[in-house]
Amino acid sequence: MKAFISIDLEGLPFIVIPGHLSLKGSLYSEAREIATKIALIVADELNKNGFDEILIADSHGPMVNLKVDKLPEYVEIVRGNPRPVSMVAGVEEDCDVAIFLGYHSKFGTAKSTFDHTYSSRSIHKFVINGVPVSEFLLNSYAAGFYNVPVILVAGDAQLLKDDVEQHTPWVETVVFKQSLSRVSAKSPSMIKIEADLREAITKAVVNFKENKVQPLKTEEPVKASISFIVSHFADVAELLPIVERTDGLTVEYPANNIIEAYKIFQVLVYAASGVAGLLEWLQ
Ligand SMILES: [Zn+2]
Repeated sequence: MKAFISIDLEGLPFIVIPGHLSLKGSLYSEAREIATKIALIVADELNKNGFDEILIADSHGPMVNLKVDKLPEYVEIVRGNPRPVSMVAGVEEDCDVAIFLGYHSKFGTAKSTFDHTYSSRSIHKFVINGVPVSEFLLNSYAAGFYNVPVILVAGDAQLLKDDVEQHTPWVETVVFKQSLSRVSAKSPSMIKIEADLREAITKAVVNFKENKVQPLKTEEPVKASISFIVSHFADVAELLPIVERTDGLTVEYPANNIIEAYKIFQVLVYAASGVAGLLEWLQ
């Protein structure tokens, strides 16, 4: 059996300040250690539960966060960015199950560390078929397109309550942090987290074997809508002929399926990042 893991940073335990999140951040090395330790615990427990192949998508920011020197032989890793289907790159490669680690709440969630939806620099809201998505929901739909069920999500308690329990009640969950604000959280010890993860993986694998999990699907064709944080990002997005401007900050576009919708979304996020750079240059 083959398992797919997507790991983000913002929902991981102990990661609470911006200095944890970027390549030159003051506490980035601590964040890398925590991410690597958690990924290795999960890979080890999956392997003990019969998964002889594990593919990890390193999925935060620069997407080169995990330390790779201690990866076991049964693990492969996807690193770097841009790449097709971003945070779930590789899930299409005959994976049986998917696991999301370090996931966080969507933009605008109260008291939830680093609440954002894909890009805190450009995105206010991303809506798929009328449903505002978190990264968890977007990536669950993308895995579902390839018939891969998500069996475990570990991250911020608010995300687990708001999105995971609501959309995928069959998923096992592990709380990594109870957020007190956007930049503070209470977390259990790593010893407790390791025990919780190992127990949850064992349960999740039983759920999978007993067909108690299912791939999450969204309707096709997909109607996607993006609200940007500033109007000039929408000005640029509507240059694409399939994109329609619906208000100052919002655009809509159709897509044949969630993977196409995700890819166009990525293009528009990169376009926003490009126009932000252009405006800086014009200062
Ligand atoms: Zn992230």
